[in-house]
Amino acid sequence: MGNVNRKEILDILHGYNQDDVTIATLGSHTSLHILNGAKEEGFKTAVVCEKGREVPYQRFKVADEFIMVDKFSDIVNDEVQEQLRDMNSVVVPHGSFVAYAGLDRIENDFNVPMFGNRDILRWESERDLERKLMIKSGIRIPNKYKEESEIDRTVMVKFPGARGGRGYFVASSPDEYQEKIDSMLKRNWIGDEDVDKAHIEEYVSGCNYCVHFFYSALKDEVEVMGMDSRYESNIDGLVRIPAKDQLDMGMDPSYVITGNHPVVMRESLLPQVFDIGDNLVEAAKDLVPPGMNGPFCLQSLVNDNLEVIVFEMSARIDGGTNTFMHTSAYSYLLFGEFMSMGRRISREIKTGIGENNLDAIIT
Ligand code: AMP
Repeated sequence: MGNVNRKEILDILHGYNQDDVTIATLGSHTSLHILNGAKEEGFKTAVVCEKGREVPYQRFKVADEFIMVDKFSDIVNDEVQEQLRDMNSVVVPHGSFVAYAGLDRIENDFNVPMFGNRDILRWESERDLERKLMIKSGIRIPNKYKEESEIDRTVMVKFPGARGGRGYFVASSPDEYQEKIDSMLKRNWIGDEDVDKAHIEEYVSGCNYCVHFFYSALKDEVEVMGMDSRYESNIDGLVRIPAKDQLDMGMDPSYVITGNHPVVMRESLLPQVFDIGDNLVEAAKDLVPPGMNGPFCLQSLVNDNLEVIVFEMSARIDGGTNTFMHTSAYSYLLFGEFMSMGRRISREIKTGIGENNLDAIIT
């Protein structure tokens, strides 16, 4: 837990005019529908925008106020924080906010009320903590190999940091593992220090479903809001080349996300999905109190035994929610009106204000 004092945050929140709250976020990632959803729920909106990146927010008309900064990471500067507090802002954290502001600054220096559980952001960012939470919840995850000598089937090898799927590789034996590591070292794709940190896990052959949940702490209910699948370069292009030509080309696969497709699952898989979401919420209550609060995403692969295997988790809004800036099949089922994840967040904040219980969902 960082130095941002919960009592101080609540004091700031109690000093706000709660009839005049602004929903604010960093202009990147999922900010378009976070801000649009806030407007739909009747809030004022503000975007903290890097100079030169303002066009989408102007042209899509989602922001009432622009706080212009030289670089994204300036969102944690004192003057920007002050401007945000002056507008009675509740900040919605997303992946780019966490990446640019940095976990340390969010935990220690960012004295602006945020939606969600501030402490859980570290749990989704660090692979060991993430794994601990997933193990505690008892959900099916890929088996992890302690060292390469244990490789007895096809594995996926991942490296830490912001490489975003570049340099991940697949290997089926200790020899193949070593060959690929040597080749990556030779090309300077990784350094010696990375080799020790290689994460080796069972390769799951299946179809990708990233499930976007919303946990309402106010209602104590887990909602399935939508699903997407990833569109990754170069792997999704590589599979369009006939296998024999792939071999001739000697190309290395990478898994860099470039976009997302909306997707729905066969209906018989949905009970598993709800179980997984419920179990994760329960585990988070124990490990990172008060637990989940708002959006979270489980990235899964569904194999031909129809098992949903979760290989990654986000404990904040995930980029794949951009596939339903208007609505998804599932959020429409639940709400009977168009409901994006951004709008759902603002709906929760509005409910918190209405029930005089905003403290419960602000961190
Ligand atoms: P990640 O960086 O963990 O989100 O993974 C990036 C991509 O690698 C995923 O979207 C999948 O396409 C693929 N991937 C990750 N883990 C596995 C796994 N255990 N088995 C098969 N493919 C995986």
